[in-house]
Amino acid sequence: MSETDRRIVVLNTGSSSLKFAAYSLTPEAPPLLSGAVDGIGGTARLQWSGSSGDHPVQAANPHAAMEALAALANGPLSGNIVAFGHRIVHGGPDLNHSVLVDDTTLSRIEAVSPLAPLHNPPALDVLKGLQKRFPGVPHVACFDTAFHRGHPAVADRFAIPDSLYQDGVRRYGFHGLSYQYIAGAMKTQAPEIAGGKVVAAHLGSGASMCALVNGHSVDSSMGFTALDGLPMGTRSGSLDAGVILWLQQQKGWSVDKVEHFLYHDCGLQGMSGLSNDIRVLLASDAPLAKMAVEYFIYHTARTAGALAVSMGGIDGFVFTAGIGEHSIPIRARVLERLRWLGFDLDEAANAKGHGRITTETSRLHAFVIPTDEERVIARETLALLPPGRP
Ligand code: ADP
Repeated sequence: MSETDRRIVVLNTGSSSLKFAAYSLTPEAPPLLSGAVDGIGGTARLQWSGSSGDHPVQAANPHAAMEALAALANGPLSGNIVAFGHRIVHGGPDLNHSVLVDDTTLSRIEAVSPLAPLHNPPALDVLKGLQKRFPGVPHVACFDTAFHRGHPAVADRFAIPDSLYQDGVRRYGFHGLSYQYIAGAMKTQAPEIAGGKVVAAHLGSGASMCALVNGHSVDSSMGFTALDGLPMGTRSGSLDAGVILWLQQQKGWSVDKVEHFLYHDCGLQGMSGLSNDIRVLLASDAPLAKMAVEYFIYHTARTAGALAVSMGGIDGFVFTAGIGEHSIPIRARVLERLRWLGFDLDEAANAKGHGRITTETSRLHAFVIPTDEERVIARETLALLPPGRP
């Protein structure tokens, strides 16, 4: 078996997509292969690097998508797999760094699954399925909450009794694997600000922002669950808790109905009544589509202000994830609202969308840095391989 046949397979499981990437054991080498099954539960399609077009697959759930991948000859789940690395969205209070999975880890992840109902259960399902299918191959769990566990107490708490804090009701913060990647990538892609006070904005279908001081997270827009903070594709973002009470008491909504509403029927989709995709909303003249876009921009800028206060100042801004990496008008309009702080947009650089997007003479600088959560998981997995492997 040649060295390149020995691989780490990284899985990023969501409720409707299963992203995967296979890496050789050479640190920082590009992935051997990467791809995704999208549309799980509906018309599922598989695509991967090196293969042309989409391939229909039978995948009623993420577990079935994993089985479809495993059946693929010469695919990501073939060759000599020395370990699997998993993105686990919620690690709760105890899982504050990546770990080699054992039964205790599994039960801890299970215990906090209600806090990430869209993410933890399918990821666990895939992990357990792989344990059965590939007996003896170790698994590493990497948590989106872990990067934020060093927050100061004021950023880690809600104004509720301490007993609830001890029960785990805390402001965890999410997208930590993405921010960990950004913190590292800034050293080469934004060295002017890497050691300073930076607001990083992960703006994808899920969206959050993080206050980074010298590459360490000190605050996040997200809290107990991935519902908090910025408005998202279909999630509400911050909402007065009284709204939930009102929906239950005055509208008679059940807990399940409220949960479905908050995760699937709010955010850009709910506000616009049109789409969860910012591209569709930007192209629309419908007043509610325009309002949804304006709300997204307003809250991104407003949160930047709040996180600057968390850090006692601001030296720079980083845009990342689907919207942050690709949407020229959203970046421009967010920075326009932050102009008074000292961000002077370079329109040509913003149109290119790589690296620094502020002018040379701008007092503060903003950057676009593509994130790579799978790379972080591969690094963590390689670092935790048990002795004797590889
Ligand atoms: P996630 O990983 O949270 O599913 P991504 O980071 O892939 O999300 O971001 C997905 C979102 O990015 C899409 O919902 C879409 O709104 C947005 N997006 C993707 N490409 C573009 C683009 N070219 N212009 C604007 N927005 C984009």
